[in-house]
Amino acid sequence: MNIGFIGLGIMGTPMAANLVRAGHTVVGYDVSEQRLDELVSHGGKAAGSLAEAVAQAHIVITMLPDSPQVEEVVFGSAGLLEYGAPGLLHIDMSTIRPETSRRVAQAATVKGIRAIDAPVSGGERGAVDGTLSIMVGGRAEDVESAREVLGVLGTTIVHVGPSGAGQTVKAANQLVVGGIYGLVAEAIVLLEASGVDPAAGLDVLAGGLAGSRILELKRHSMIKREFAPGFRIDLHDKDMGIIIAAAREAGVALPLTGVVAQLIAAARAQGHGSLDHSALLKVIERINA
Ligand code: NAD
Repeated sequence: MNIGFIGLGIMGTPMAANLVRAGHTVVGYDVSEQRLDELVSHGGKAAGSLAEAVAQAHIVITMLPDSPQVEEVVFGSAGLLEYGAPGLLHIDMSTIRPETSRRVAQAATVKGIRAIDAPVSGGERGAVDGTLSIMVGGRAEDVESAREVLGVLGTTIVHVGPSGAGQTVKAANQLVVGGIYGLVAEAIVLLEASGVDPAAGLDVLAGGLAGSRILELKRHSMIKREFAPGFRIDLHDKDMGIIIAAAREAGVALPLTGVVAQLIAAARAQGHGSLDHSALLKVIERINA
């Protein structure tokens, strides 16, 4: 399969590398030259332009920061709708607004291009290991034709509904993840302030009902205050905006989400936007300092 891969960041590069390893021809494009070199070192090909990455592709995967970048790549004059061949399958794996995914899918249909939203959970580790959870929105037949490629990238692949539904599930995922990080941060602050070894304390939590993938993967680095991303605060802040907009659209109140959104906004305002979202601990510490 010829796969165009747009957006070779923390997630995109290891995902593209896994597709190369699975035998696909991957032609990548990123606005950063350095990212292209990294893809080539994994056996992929560097496209000189977006149009070049799209033109020969059977499938185009986008893994971009936010809705405006996806809109630029899809609707831009050098973009996917302009250069994509009819029948092309566009799998957008970025986390963006559900409403943008629906607009992308509608516009693609007019051009004979099939588009699905397939955001992911599992972080950089899941991207490297090919064990992402993938929540897919779109027409059943389009989702079926994406399954083989998605199976290279993830182990849990669920068709959750029509176009945009994948993004709504991802929004739900991000509110849970943000909330758990906030609470783990508060647990560390409490343990340390009480003179209890946080490593021993969190080991117990990880094995009990409070256990979670976040505790399993991140408790040690949080206690050591290692906050290299991972998933940047800037991106989680973007996701909180998506969640709050989705809640408004659905007409529901999510009070805990509101608090978490403010804490993540504070992390950004305090200059921690490029750190991992586990750096929420810095905000909880500062409240208490
Ligand atoms: P990132 O910032 O590391 O990567 C994004 C890449 O897109 C960068 O290399 C950037 O240069 C490139 N880019 C930006 N605009 C572009 C354009 N117009 N054309 C081509 N390339 C462009 O971000 P990431 O952490 O890889 O996240 C990507 C998406 O996946 C985001 O929507 C994020 O919310 C989501 N996500 C990230 C994680 C994670 O743990 N990092 C986990 C799940 C989902």
